[in-house]
Amino acid sequence: EAASHGGNHFRFFVHALNERVRDRLSLSTDLVQALEHDRFELYFQPQVAADDGELTGVEVLLRLRHPTQGLISPGDFIPVAEETGLIVPLGAWVIRDACRQLRLWQALDVGTLSINLSPLQLQDPQLFEIIMQALDVNQIVPALIEFEITENALMRNSISTLNQLNRLKQLGVRLSIDDFGTGYSNLSYLKQFPVDRLKIDQAFVRGVPTDSNDVAIVDAILAVARALGLSTLAEGVETQAQADFLRARRCDEFQGYLYSRPLPANEFEAWLHTRRLIARHG
Ligand code: C2E
Ligand code: MG
Ligand code: MG
Ligand code: MG
Repeated sequence: EAASHGGNHFRFFVHALNERVRDRLSLSTDLVQALEHDRFELYFQPQVAADDGELTGVEVLLRLRHPTQGLISPGDFIPVAEETGLIVPLGAWVIRDACRQLRLWQALDVGTLSINLSPLQLQDPQLFEIIMQALDVNQIVPALIEFEITENALMRNSISTLNQLNRLKQLGVRLSIDDFGTGYSNLSYLKQFPVDRLKIDQAFVRGVPTDSNDVAIVDAILAVARALGLSTLAEGVETQAQADFLRARRCDEFQGYLYSRPLPANEFEAWLHTRRLIARHG
């Protein structure tokens, strides 16, 4: 209504909104334009084996290259993309671009590529086709792709989510629970959903080995994972003391600033090259 009366009325209407809402409106417009103009970029963060430090996989993390504001983190735009539904086409772009990159890395042996999935994507009936096509176009074995889903995403709309996850599982991709321990606390979904691993949230990793509550929670998560036959990855590993503690408790893999921040593709390649040179020559 306001917009149909012309530019001035529309401007008045926008000014009447509070600043937070106005920021969100302009961000949501920016996001649509950014997708049209190819301003999203993928960053990559290594995941390493606890025992020998070898690269086992890479998490794909989205960034927005804003024309005036520089590089914007997903924490600042994913919530808006979810509210507006843009996360569905944006998430499809992430899947396609990540698979394109994995094909280019075929000879590098980077392990599993982990892609974050939003709850809305899981409810999109086209998700399966989007994934199939991205794998097919890039000749990627499904077992090399992992989708990260949060606990809360699993609790929403659970019948269709369960069907979607079972289809993906049959296709051969891997599934993990992201930010494990911070969401819905009913653990019964772990036996319902075809999950391969738990990613222990950095909120708990931060406190080990000194905070006895965090130690207890991490121990409990590792025990649940072991009992259910799931592998484990600790997120946000920043110190050697954290890594040593988690290794002693037999957590399988680590991801965090101790190894590397998320990097653009070319910097990730350089990181991997240097790391392998050092491993070979000491
Ligand atoms: P996440 O999936 O749990 O990703 C891990 C976050 O922890 C990343 O933040 C990463 O940069 C950060 N991180 C990794 N190591 C450390 C560390 O040692 N210390 C600290 N303090 N932080 C560390 P980032 O890249 O800002 O992403 C934030 C969240 O945005 C992600 O959390 C994920 O939930 C979401 N996200 C990112 N990319 C996508 C995407 O393509 N699709 C969807 N749906 N969500 C995404
Ligand atoms: Mg993740
Ligand atoms: Mg996480
Ligand atoms: Mg997180």
